[in-house]
This record gives sequence, structure tokens and C-alpha cells, in this order.
Amino acid sequence: MTRICILGGGFGGLYTALNLARLPWAVMPEIILVDKSDRFLFTPFLYELVTSELQEWEVAPSFAELLADTGIQFVQGLVTNIDFEAKQVEVNIGQRSFLEYDRLVLAIGGETPMNFVDGASEYAIPFRNLQDFHRLNSKLELLEASNRDKIRVCIAGGGSSGVELACKIADRLKDRGRVRLVDRNLKILGNSTDANRQIAELALSQRGVWTDLNTRVSQITDSEVTLDYADGSDTLPVDIVLWTVGSTFSKMLQNLTLEHSRQGAIATDLTLQVKGYADIFAIGDLAGCLDSDGQPLPATAQVAFQQSQYCAWNIWASLNQKPLVNFSYIPLGEFISLGIDGATASIFGKFSIDGFPAHVMRRFAYLLRMPTLQHQWKIGTHWVTKPLVELFRKSV
Ligand SMILES: Cc1cc2nc3c(=O)[nH]c(=O)nc-3n(C[C@H](O)[C@H](O)[C@H](O)COP(=O)(O)OP(=O)(O)OC[C@H]3O[C@@H](n4cnc5c(N)ncnc54)[C@H](O)[C@@H]3O)c2cc1C
Repeated sequence: MTRICILGGGFGGLYTALNLARLPWAVMPEIILVDKSDRFLFTPFLYELVTSELQEWEVAPSFAELLADTGIQFVQGLVTNIDFEAKQVEVNIGQRSFLEYDRLVLAIGGETPMNFVDGASEYAIPFRNLQDFHRLNSKLELLEASNRDKIRVCIAGGGSSGVELACKIADRLKDRGRVRLVDRNLKILGNSTDANRQIAELALSQRGVWTDLNTRVSQITDSEVTLDYADGSDTLPVDIVLWTVGSTFSKMLQNLTLEHSRQGAIATDLTLQVKGYADIFAIGDLAGCLDSDGQPLPATAQVAFQQSQYCAWNIWASLNQKPLVNFSYIPLGEFISLGIDGATASIFGKFSIDGFPAHVMRRFAYLLRMPTLQHQWKIGTHWVTKPLVELFRKSV
């Protein structure tokens, strides 16, 4: 039986698997999804865990639940190597095991580089997955339970991750928080629209978040952070440093004998096939796919999600002797959460909306992006009934 192996169950991999299972197969191939985690993570909602606006079951449903009744097999394990000659993937599932494939999808995403400055790997916390959230949350809980007057948090990176984290942490800590956002550029949110940036700047200042621009974090210890300004440097006491700067790839990926582009990403054709390998596709953050102007695509869920549809179709086409189609990215806009119940949205980069309406719009748009109808229904009914249950509780 034809076997399709999909490595990585994130926005690229999981959605490719689900799209593949829905296509009209004469004989359904074996679809195997491999991930080191037992749960999918809807990353745009990871910030909502910090403020307890959402719970883990909403943001990170298990693969077992998502893949029930789909015919897709799930293997929990760490991909450690790929042999392109033997068409075989090596997976550590507690022991070494091997999966053979007819078609392969590479979708294991990126990693946060923690080696930019001294002390980052030891003392700073990245914010990319559930483990990172748990690390941050345990530290915050300890500090909140202490008799400390102020809790000092420094966030490196004024991109959307840094800005969203700063607002959520400021809302969680309220008067006890001393939140500082540091970026080496002259403005935050370098890739966003001016409208989104201005609304975010206002949200940060309303929460008393200190923003240090044109500033570099140069050293981190267990209790201090050193900042290099244009005209000098300063070492400040700190309780938590969060690192949101940059993206890199796992050693395993970097070692593969494939053509790499854009800071180590895997070079693909417009059909999303890895250059030189018609049977291997690469999508999401790890893929060095270019847009119609020859520019690298951003590493976003939006890109990975759209690629998953083309990837599934092209795998189906390649197995059914049909022509493959070129991937074409349509930027739909951007949502940035700004504290509890707040957000800003730009639609097609043209219209902007902010505050509570943007928050509701963001929630609804992301609900529709949840991987399965069952999970959408489960969350949707929870969101509708939750305020009613709370109202009922208060009234009795
Ligand atoms: C906190 C946060 C918020 C974000 N918010 C947004 C947003 O609002 N909008 C947006 O468009 N984008 C957002 N992004 C970016 C978005 O999450 C990524 O661009 C997107 O997830 C990329 O999809 P992917 O499939 O390439 O990788 P991922 O979704 O990261 O999935 C990779 C999967 O591979 C697995 N994996 C990794 N290595 C291995 C291995 N060796 N073996 C087995 N499994 C492995 C991981 O467990 C993971 O499940 C956000 C990212 C973060 C971290």
C-alpha cells in the first residue's frame, strides 16, 4: 500500500494530513503523522494561557482526539534522521524505529535560537511551545506567591510575540508588574502595518510597559539583564527574561543533504517539492518557499496553513498522474492580541479594527481555523455557554 509520511504535526503537517484524508482516493493510502509531542498546538492562542483566558484543552488538543475516525495513523516520536536513498525515516519512539515512505512531507517547523547572547540558554525562557509556557507560568506563580513587591519581567524582541506577551503579562501582574520590552530596531512590530503598530504602542503604554528601542540585550544572568543602548549600557535587576528573537532549525534538519536557502530553510520549488526530490515536500517554517516576487515567505501559521492545502493536493496529484499546481500565497491580514480581551486586526493590510471588536473577530477567525469540526464545535459551544454558566453561578 502507498505510504505517505508526514513529519511534524503543526500547522503545516497536521492540516496536510487532514486535507489528504478528505481527498477522493480510489484506494486510500496509508497516512502516517509523526510528532514528538502528543498534542497539536494552536500557537496564536499560547498567550491566552498566560492570562488563563483559555485552557490547555482548547489551545492544545491531543492528536488522538483530532485524528479519531480520520484513518490517519499517529506515531509519537522524535524524528532523528532521514535516509533519502532508502526512503526511510528514523524515529525515536523510546527505541530506534524506521518508517518507509512513498511520499514524505517535512513540516517540523523551527526553533528559537538561544545562543545569541551570554546567559540566554541558561536563564532566558523562549516562548514557542507548551513546555515554554509551563516554565514561564511556574516562575510567575512562584513570584506571585512570594512577598515581593514588584515582579520584573524583561522581554527581548519587539515583534508580535514580544508585544503580545508584554501585554498579557502586564495584564496578569497588574500593579505588581514591571514589564520591559527591548528591541534593537527603532520601532516595534517591524513587519506590521502602521495602524497595528500605533494601536500596539498605545496598548503597551496604557499598561505601563517600558519600551527600550535601539537597544540590545547583551547579557543575562539569574538575576540581572544587561542592556546596550546607543550611548552606553546598563545592568538591571530582573526576575524573568523572555527571549522571542529569531528562528533557527534543528541540527537534524541542518544536517540533511538538501539544498538550503533563507538562513538554512529547505529550498523548494513552487509546487512545494524539495529541490531535486519529486517525492518529498517541505512546508511551513522550515520551507524556503518564495512568493511570486521571489521574496521569502514569512514564517507564519497563515503560510503553513495555505501550503498544507497545496501540499495535500500535489501529493494526491503526483500519485494519480495529474498535473501539480504552484503554491501561491494570499496574505489575508494580521491579528495581534493586546492584553485580556483586546486585539488589533488588519484585514488584507488595508482595514484596521481594534479593541474588543478585534478581539471577538480574532477569536472567531481562529475558531474557524481549528483543525477539525469536532474541536471547533467543542470550543465554540464552550465559549458561548461559559459566560451563561458564570452568570448563573453569580446569581445563585
Ligand atoms: C507563540 C507563537 C504565536 C504565534 N502566533 C501566530 C499568529 O498569530 N499568526 C500566525 O500566522 N503565526 C503565528 N505564529 C507562527 C506559527 O506558529 C508558525 O509559523 C507555524 O506554526 C509554522 O507551522 P509549521 O507546521 O511549520 O511548524 P509548527 O506548527 O511549529 O509544527 C512543527 C511540529 O513539529 C514537531 N516537531 C519538531 N521537531 C520534531 C522532530 N524532530 N520530530 C518530531 N516532531 C517534531 C513539533 O512538536 C510541532 O508539533 C506563532 C508562533 C508562536 C511560537
